[in-house]
Amino acid sequence: MKISTKGLLCFWKVSFGTRYRELEERPGEMLVDSHGRKINYLRLSVTGRCDLRCRYCRPRDGGAHSAEPEPLTDEDLLLIATTSVRLGIEKIRVTGGEPLVRKGIVALLRRLAAIPRLSKLVLTTNGLRLSELADDLRKAGVESLNISLDSLRPERFSRITGGGDLRRVLSGIERAQNCGFPHIKLNVVVMRGINEDEVEEFASLTRDRPLRVRFIEYMPAASADCARGITVPGEEILDRLAKRYRLLPMEKEELGGPARYFRIEGGAGVVGVITPVSCHFCGDCNRIRVTSNGVAKGCLFSREDVDLKPILRKKDPTGLRNALLDVVRYKPDRHPLCPEGLGGEPIAMSVIGG
Ligand code: SAM
Repeated sequence: MKISTKGLLCFWKVSFGTRYRELEERPGEMLVDSHGRKINYLRLSVTGRCDLRCRYCRPRDGGAHSAEPEPLTDEDLLLIATTSVRLGIEKIRVTGGEPLVRKGIVALLRRLAAIPRLSKLVLTTNGLRLSELADDLRKAGVESLNISLDSLRPERFSRITGGGDLRRVLSGIERAQNCGFPHIKLNVVVMRGINEDEVEEFASLTRDRPLRVRFIEYMPAASADCARGITVPGEEILDRLAKRYRLLPMEKEELGGPARYFRIEGGAGVVGVITPVSCHFCGDCNRIRVTSNGVAKGCLFSREDVDLKPILRKKDPTGLRNALLDVVRYKPDRHPLCPEGLGGEPIAMSVIGG
């Protein structure tokens, strides 16, 4: 039997439309948590799969590619996103795993970008597939890209990422720049004894390219067997850079995230530090997360999570709305991470989305 798009739309309206209208009638609410923070940013993980195997990200390596279907369908993700935007979310970051390994990702992004009143749709990727996909992502409505890159040395990059090909990432970054993505961000997780000696080289990329190179403190939470004590504090990174360059501090931007930015005098781009361990920024936290298996979290490290899957299975937009409101309501005032780690079960960044 052939069903037209119009027919499907009609079926959808009859089935879920009445409940869905409840949300439509209350547009533009503002989400404020019990600590007075305005929540306007959702990190949406669309897959737990990845084509790299960074040890710090994946506690137990279950294989880079699994053929299993994603736990959340496109319709689930769209309902979560639409409901969040109606509640007050303004910016959505699509993450993973590696979001670009999800089947149909470009079409999904196009639909996410079309959500009324969403101000920004952005994406975090390892960059491996950008050479092929950057144009499509731009056309789909992705506004900006964060690309993870922990080394500029091919062998070291391969070691950190479990076999990644640096050349592919570098040509992906170039392609993304050529097709008009503004201020591409490079995320560098700085690890003592592993890549800390590259911070100057990374910073020098901003001299003649409009890149934002952000140095992120390694969070000792992802893997029980990963070495402790490899976090390099943001202040140490800045001291290192200040010995080589004159750093000019920059103003913070609305929806700009937790990085503190500096321009190297005369540089086209900027460098930044993100310090979740040495100097947490929980007081300004504006985000909630939904993991690739449909769990909503008020904090990267919170264990009081809400499983959205039963609600999604029932196609219950009011239930979903209430669940998201609960996540905001019970968002902890700060995360429990300290330089010694987290305690308890390791956290799977690859599922949560970083
Ligand atoms: N596959 C994509 C990528 O590589 O960017 C998106 C997922 S990845 C989990 C998102 C971000 O989390 C990356 O920038 C990654 O470096 C960061 N991340 C993962 N584990 C981390 C850790 N233990 N400490 C600091 N950052 C971490």
